[in-house]
Amino acid sequence: MRVVTDPAGLRQPVARPLVLVPTMGALHEGHLALIRRAREAAGPEGTVAVSIFVNPIQFDRAGDLAAYPQPLDDDLAKCRAEGIDLAFTPEPDAMYFPDRSVTVLENSLSKPLCGATRPGHFDGVCTVVLKLFNLFQPDIAVFGEKDYQQLAIIRRMVRDLDVPVEILAHPTLREPDGLAMSSRNVRLTPEQRADAPRLHRALSDAAAGDTRDDILERARDAIESPLNRLDYLELVDAETLQPATDLKRPTVLATAVFYGDVRLIDNQPVPAVS
Ligand code: AMP
Repeated sequence: MRVVTDPAGLRQPVARPLVLVPTMGALHEGHLALIRRAREAAGPEGTVAVSIFVNPIQFDRAGDLAAYPQPLDDDLAKCRAEGIDLAFTPEPDAMYFPDRSVTVLENSLSKPLCGATRPGHFDGVCTVVLKLFNLFQPDIAVFGEKDYQQLAIIRRMVRDLDVPVEILAHPTLREPDGLAMSSRNVRLTPEQRADAPRLHRALSDAAAGDTRDDILERARDAIESPLNRLDYLELVDAETLQPATDLKRPTVLATAVFYGDVRLIDNQPVPAVS
């Protein structure tokens, strides 16, 4: 496995197809599932690349950035064990000029849900992902459905800016008790960790509801607990991410919840009713 820290190191030619899995590290089984999907897409002769970069410009809370786990040696060992060909682990200074002044702005899909309470977050995500696409020039990139809004926004960016990459989506990997795997889970106290599976239970049970109000009410009742604070709960159109009233179209029930200062997100696709 080649480990590159300097963007210039990505200019060397690689075997195609090149499949990229962008991450912020603290790799867990969810990331590894994306990596295995990437290998399937690349084939044994192609190149699987992983970027591990805690992107400072997508954090809206300094404390969240400071507390983000960064076990780089463990991450590289996991990448080696998965047969990754190329790992890119730049420092922030190598990615951003001090006087950088160009940012990718998405003006529709990034407004609701996480965008409403995390100003600038998706602009930071789009900017770093476009930089990674420019640096790697991957044929394919793999993203997780756990970050449903992020996936929709990246697809939109690729469409609107004619970025020559195919986006593959991978379903959410969960712990045995249903909690969506996340690098932030290690920051939960044992009590919070024991409470957090209610998110997935609430979303998947409520998805069987008959109307928008019924679904949202059932989900809210089951999510709220003395240990958490709801950031948002919304039923949105799966494509536009606008509040959904028409259940004849595919929708997504999405939530973000704070346990202390740890913010967890999850979502549940709701199939169109006929
Ligand atoms: P992150 O390191 O959190 O930025 O995530 C890197 C990629 O892994 C993103 O495409 C995420 O959507 C994806 N990912 C994170 N957690 C999971 C999970 N539990 N299941 C599937 N994909 C995930």
